[in-house]
Amino acid sequence: MNIVLLGPPGAGKGTQAKRIEKALGLVQLSTGDMLRAAVAAGSEVGKKAKAVMEAGKLVSDDILIAMISDRIGEADCKNGFILDGFPRTVAQAEALDKMLGARGLKLDHVIEMQVDDAALVERISGRYSCKDCGAVYHDKTKPTKVAGKCDSCGSANMVRRPDDKADTVAARLKAYHDQTAPIIPYYRAKGALKVVDGMADMDVVTAAIAKVLGKPIAAI
Ligand code: AMP
Repeated sequence: MNIVLLGPPGAGKGTQAKRIEKALGLVQLSTGDMLRAAVAAGSEVGKKAKAVMEAGKLVSDDILIAMISDRIGEADCKNGFILDGFPRTVAQAEALDKMLGARGLKLDHVIEMQVDDAALVERISGRYSCKDCGAVYHDKTKPTKVAGKCDSCGSANMVRRPDDKADTVAARLKAYHDQTAPIIPYYRAKGALKVVDGMADMDVVTAAIAKVLGKPIAAI
């Protein structure tokens, strides 16, 4: 099963993708995580992406399209994948259709998680995660049980994304509305789009996604 999770930054795509990944044995493909890894590794792609990401803008379509095209060809993707953060432009959505078609694959579900901008700023600015296992937390809504220690793996290596600062968040929301939101009518026109209320409690969102997918998903 191949799934696209759509929605603005902070909508909860990563959290839900991890739950789907675990429940259904699919692979989460987060282009944000891939780019952050490229930046950390100092690769050519990372060098090109770093300043663009820090400014809250979108990295160029050709970089992202090549990245996803390579990644979905890898062995671990053969049972299916969850795209989290891709596509983010109409050009990326069209390229995705082409690369899937060329491999005899298709998208089974495109799920839009809808969240108000005001809630997003609040969600993103309190966000931190475990550098070792990727578990995501929030200062107000989901702090670690023991301050500074990951509930999942016990690591004390907590990090905040540099682009989760309030001024960058505004630029990221603008990029979403200007460049990413136009892909919603693209998928709606294909009859592929399902909408879930991303403002609801995390577990309620998971249940709504499970209903769309027709499979049970545990809250983790
Ligand atoms: P995310 O972790 O999905 O919020 O992505 C973090 C940043 O990576 C974004 O603000 C963009 O700068 C960049 N990025 C991630 N995915 C894409 C994409 N599909 N197209 C362009 N830029 C992307």
